[in-house]
Amino acid sequence: MGIFIDVLVDENLCEFSKGCDKCITICPVDIFYNQSGRLGIKDEDECTLCDQCLEVCPTNAIKIVKKY
Ligand code: SF4
Ligand code: SF4
Repeated sequence: MGIFIDVLVDENLCEFSKGCDKCITICPVDIFYNQSGRLGIKDEDECTLCDQCLEVCPTNAIKIVKKY
C-alpha cells in the first residue's frame, strides 16, 4: 500500500506462479519483484501511472488505484 497510489494484483488471476514476469520486466520503476518465489510489490508511490503493466498483463490481474 502506498500513501498516494495502491498497486493491486488479484492473486486469483495472476500467473506469476506459471512463469509470467511481464510486469516485473516492463515496469520502469521496479514496483514488481520476485519476493522469494511470489510476486512482490514495493514503493507503490513511485508508480508513474504509465499503465504499461496494465497493457502487458495477460490476465488483467493488476489494478492501479490513485487515492488522491
Ligand atoms: S503481468 Fe500480470 S499475470 Fe504476469 S506476473 Fe504480473 S500481475 Fe501476474
Ligand atoms: S503503471 Fe507503470 S510505473 Fe506504475 S506499476 Fe505499472 S508499469 Fe510500473
